[in-house]
Amino acid sequence: MKNTFNLLKNTDFPAIKRTQLETLQVNLGYLCNQQCLHCHVDASPRRKEIMTAETVADVVNFLKQKNIKTLDLTGGAPEMNPEFCSLVKQAVDMGVHVIDRCNITILLEPGFEKIAAFLAENKVEVVASMPCYLRENVDAQRGKGVFSNSIKGLQLLNHYGYGKEEALQLNLVYNPQGINLPPSQNELEPAYKKELQQRFAISFNNLYTITNMPIKRFGSTLLSKGLFDEYMQLLKTAYSKDNLSGVMCRSTLSVDWLGYVYDCDFNQMLGLSAGLNADITVGVLPAKTHINDLLQSDLKGKDIAIMDHCYGCTAGFGSSCGGALI
Ligand code: SF4
Ligand code: SF4
Repeated sequence: MKNTFNLLKNTDFPAIKRTQLETLQVNLGYLCNQQCLHCHVDASPRRKEIMTAETVADVVNFLKQKNIKTLDLTGGAPEMNPEFCSLVKQAVDMGVHVIDRCNITILLEPGFEKIAAFLAENKVEVVASMPCYLRENVDAQRGKGVFSNSIKGLQLLNHYGYGKEEALQLNLVYNPQGINLPPSQNELEPAYKKELQQRFAISFNNLYTITNMPIKRFGSTLLSKGLFDEYMQLLKTAYSKDNLSGVMCRSTLSVDWLGYVYDCDFNQMLGLSAGLNADITVGVLPAKTHINDLLQSDLKGKDIAIMDHCYGCTAGFGSSCGGALI
């Protein structure tokens, strides 16, 4: 796989700093039952990296000590980590709002059939990838058969009340195909709702449009097809200053499967450690920091490690794990 790190390193993206820490986004490992073309994690059924029970205990301790409001679980397929249910339970018992970034098809895999009921019982918010409501597009991006299993999984979540009851939020994620920016989230959401309801009787709450990042598998594909420069030009030309105040790294800290911290999930995948006090604008790459080393630190005002891929968050309508920014 081709690496885009060195092509992104020299950046003119504006310096940004942290605000109050609100969300801890934890990657429970790179193991996944799928292997999608657009995956920025390079997750697959062959990956072995999984967060251990010891590191999960560090996460729980951090949540408690820092009074974090939201725990955002990602992967791979986070449900494939054997500690998943224990972590969710402990966080919910502390009053933390839990988000599961679920690929949906995992809910139908042997051994995971009880996860949908567990999520509903614990009122976990589900954020699910659904790049299109058309079979051809989903299967092309996420693999053959993924569309019909995603439909069955969404119907299962609806069965447990997701997308219907206020406390059971089901939000879908749209990624563009190819080298395009996402369309307007506000315009796409009603079309998604109408199509999924009419074709499959599926209900959901919100649609999040997310820009593809020029890193990992998608970055490598861009390089292989000779489209990397064109895509970067698109992101830079569409830069919108209004998105800068809303980028998710300001209030989110990303944790990898070993417990090291990053300013966001994308930086984690690039191996770009949390900026904290490093001045990345003068070319100094930040040192690795473990979550346990931040228990006494106030992150407010600390530097965020930026590179050229950050234009992916500020292009057009903006992009974050919670969808468009404006
Ligand atoms: S995009 Fe999600 S579902 Fe697809 S391989 Fe990556 S982690 Fe798995
Ligand atoms: S890529 Fe990460 S660090 Fe850069 S702006 Fe987006 S969220 Fe922030």
